[in-house]
Amino acid sequence: MHTPSVTSSCKCAFTLPSPQLVDHTCRGPPEVYTVEPSQGKGLGVFALHDVEIGDIVMRETPVVKISPPDFVKGTGYPMAAISKLVRQEFETLSLDKQAEILSLTYHATPAEIETMDQLGLIFRTNAYNTGKEIGLFPKIARINHSCRPNTSYYWSERLNKRIVYATRKIKQGEEFSVSYIPLLLTQKERQARLDRYGFKCHCEACAQERAATEVSDERRVTINQAFIDFEPQLILTPPKSKTATRQARKNANASLQLASLVQEEGLADYYAKAYRIAAISHARVGDWEPAAIWANKGYELKVMEDPQSPHTLELHHLTSNFLSNWESQLRNRSAMHGGQ
Ligand SMILES: [Zn+2]
Repeated sequence: MHTPSVTSSCKCAFTLPSPQLVDHTCRGPPEVYTVEPSQGKGLGVFALHDVEIGDIVMRETPVVKISPPDFVKGTGYPMAAISKLVRQEFETLSLDKQAEILSLTYHATPAEIETMDQLGLIFRTNAYNTGKEIGLFPKIARINHSCRPNTSYYWSERLNKRIVYATRKIKQGEEFSVSYIPLLLTQKERQARLDRYGFKCHCEACAQERAATEVSDERRVTINQAFIDFEPQLILTPPKSKTATRQARKNANASLQLASLVQEEGLADYYAKAYRIAAISHARVGDWEPAAIWANKGYELKVMEDPQSPHTLELHHLTSNFLSNWESQLRNRSAMHGGQ
């Protein structure tokens, strides 16, 4: 089966003077992906050509978007109410769109299949949070899961689209993957989360030898704990006491270890978070050069995702702030040397 991608936004610039001569066909960039069978996973989404880090793989408007009823602690969203809302939206769609939705796979127990609306089950398996709402993106839903994915995604409220972009270089013919779950968990914990999608994960992180899996588990648990431990330290005010300064120095060193751990584990989704920690930790001890470099590395990743997001703007601000401190530091040093 082949499903061509849809170019949903046209950025062609029309400069011809006569309206009769204006060519309204948007030729857009070449198609990025194709949907083909993926071994053991039903269908999957594959690269039609080499893709660079930051390249957009898909942008998709939700075909169904609902405001969820209240979340019930312990049992989740009430499925009957969700199914009803989804069906109402579904009925308003074209037959093509309806068929596209009904072609999606879903996971449910035999009892659920017996008692629940199939549409609700499809929605439960395939939908993504879109800000305060939940949306169904049939094309994006075709991308299979990996615990070391090569793409990431974000929801753009401004564009009303979910955007999937490459976080690694991807070769032509390689399968695109995203993560359906939080990734800073052990292999066992990840599989428990994935059970609700009804598959056993055999991604490159899960299919490793036991020793390698143990190392990977250890790294993920350490990264998770480090993110928690660093949280209260992420302030720009310099340490006041000698003890606090010593601690801040230790933190700056630990932040470098954290950045390399995240890279070793290949968890591109968390690179920018680790780089921001390294930037702020160095800024606190007045190491402006590494502070500026790490902030800029984080900014470069975030800007690919969404140039307007608060995270991107914050990293931009930190980079320019740290750069100017670094410049003054250099000026002061050369002034001191000049005065000798
Ligand atoms: Zn996996």
